[in-house]
Parts: sequence; C-alpha cells; structure tokens
Amino acid sequence: MSRRYDLHSHSLASDGTLAPAELVAAAHAAAVDVLALTDHDTTAGIAAATDCARPLGLQLVPGVEISVSWRSQTVHVLGLGIDPDCEILLAGLAELRAFRDWRAEEIGRRLARAGIGGCYEGARRLAQGSIVSRTHFAHHLVARGHAASVRDVFKSFLVNNKPGYVAGQWADLEAAISWIAAAGGMAVIAHPARYNMTASKLRRLVGEFRECGGVGLEVVSGSHTRDNTIAMAALCRNEGMLASTGSDYHGPENPWVRLGELPGLPAGCHPVWESENWLNPAACRPWARGAAIRQAD
Ligand code: AMP
Ligand code: MN
Ligand code: MN
Ligand code: MN
Repeated sequence: MSRRYDLHSHSLASDGTLAPAELVAAAHAAAVDVLALTDHDTTAGIAAATDCARPLGLQLVPGVEISVSWRSQTVHVLGLGIDPDCEILLAGLAELRAFRDWRAEEIGRRLARAGIGGCYEGARRLAQGSIVSRTHFAHHLVARGHAASVRDVFKSFLVNNKPGYVAGQWADLEAAISWIAAAGGMAVIAHPARYNMTASKLRRLVGEFRECGGVGLEVVSGSHTRDNTIAMAALCRNEGMLASTGSDYHGPENPWVRLGELPGLPAGCHPVWESENWLNPAACRPWARGAAIRQAD
C-alpha cells in the first residue's frame, strides 16, 4: 500500500495552534505515514515532534517554511529534510525572526494609530513565546470583535494599503536556498498558485529558483484548487521540477484544511520523496559531496 504524505504543517512554534506533540498525534490519527513540520522561520518545534513521532511509527521530516522577498513580493520556500541544528540555517532564520519582532511592533503601532490599541500585546500573548505572525494579530482582532473571521481581518487590516500592513523585508531567494542546502535539505516553493503571479512571472520565479539550487514545487496544497493543482503540475513538468504535497495545516480551527487528506499528485509528476536526494543530506550539499569524493580519491 502506498504511504500517506503530508509535507507542510505548522505547530505552536509558529502560527499553528497545536503543540508539536499534539500535531504529530493528530497526523497519526489521520493515518499520515510521513509528516513534515514546516514552521515559519523556525525549527524550534522539530525536536519535540521527532520524539513524539518515533514511538508512533510516523516518520517526521524536519522542515521549515522560509519567508522570502522576491521582486517585492513575499514567497514561501520550504526546506524539507533539513538538519534543524545547522548553524548556517539557524543564523539565517534568526535574522528573519529579528525582522519579525520589529514588524510585529510596527503592526501594533499602525493599528493603534488607526484606533485599535493593544494588538501587539494581544498577538504576543497568543504566540506564547514563539514567533509573532500576522495570524496571531488576526486571531486577536477576531477575539476582540474587530472582524468576523481571520479571512476578514486579512482583507481589512493586514494586507497592502490597509492600516496594519507592513511590507516584508525577508530573505533573498538565493540566501534561503543556500541555507536549506547547507542544512542538507531540499528547497521547494510552497503553494505556488497562491502568489497571484502571471504565468510568465511564475515561470521566471521557478527559473531563478532552479538556478539557485531549488528542486521542487508544492503541486498539491491545502490552499490550491483542483485547477491550481493541474496548472502547477504542468509547470512542474515543463520546468523539470520535482513535485511535493502538503496540507499547510495550522490547526483544527480551520476545518477546510485537514491533515493528510490530499489528492494524489497528477500523472507525470516526480515526487520529491522518490528522488535519490530525499532525506540524503550529503547529496543536498554539493560542496560537502565534492569534499567526500576528494577524500575518497
Ligand atoms: P506572516 O508570515 O506573519 O506574514 O503571516 C503569514 C501567514 O498568515 C500565512 O502563513 C498564513 O498562515 C496566514 N495568512 C496569510 N494570508 C491569509 C488569509 N488571507 N487568510 C488567512 N490566513 C492568512
Ligand atoms: Mn502560516
Ligand atoms: Mn505559506
Ligand atoms: Mn505554511
């Protein structure tokens, strides 16, 4: 029987609502065989998730979702199969979190100027010591009755031209991919159909991504429609990329996205997990592999 993969999920270490242990238990209950924990800009949840996965017989793939700025747009890059203790990766992620901390305060200041005080403190409280994301602001604003739903908060407060919007200064595409490679992981563009790019701009992104060492596209995503998936599968094949699949689960509060309940990859896609580089750190670090070959000579 084929294994059930879900290679994109979030825990309390970023903007998910389940602790890493609870997330792993939920994935196990949903019959997921292979789960990647891919928190935004942090690897803090991976050790706990790995410990809980082992006795359940669930394979936990250490991952991360890195915030990237590309041509003044935010793009998310997944690192799959990373070493969560790699110093190059950790140093890069620490820089992003420093920007996040400043941005959270700035969002708070802007919302206060728009007449809604206390949001920074509220978002911080919800983040429970982890990174503060716009999701935390959204939950706080809904709880305080400023919007009916998280979706409405984003529309009315947290996107471009709205009172709580702060433009991102995230990692360069090349830098993010190099951190992932240094950590022995494979770089995959998360939910590529979500960026509202024209087809030609998306092809340019994928081309640059590949030149920098990126290898895959998330073809099946909890936030893709069926048409998105078909289009991304075609892009993936045309550009010679590997395909990944992930729910982008953030917790049970969002009933539309369930762990592990994903359609299969369309025909002709080569799954990331069938690559010889999958969970093979040496193969993902070309310079390290070169060194090993030289040693062997
Ligand atoms: P941040 O990285 O702090 O800018 O927050 C981005 C996160 O906000 C994403 O990972 C999603 O979880 C969430 N998000 C972004 N846009 C929306 C939206 N329109 N509705 C609900 N959640 C969203
Ligand atoms: Mn998120
Ligand atoms: Mn994302
Ligand atoms: Mn995500």
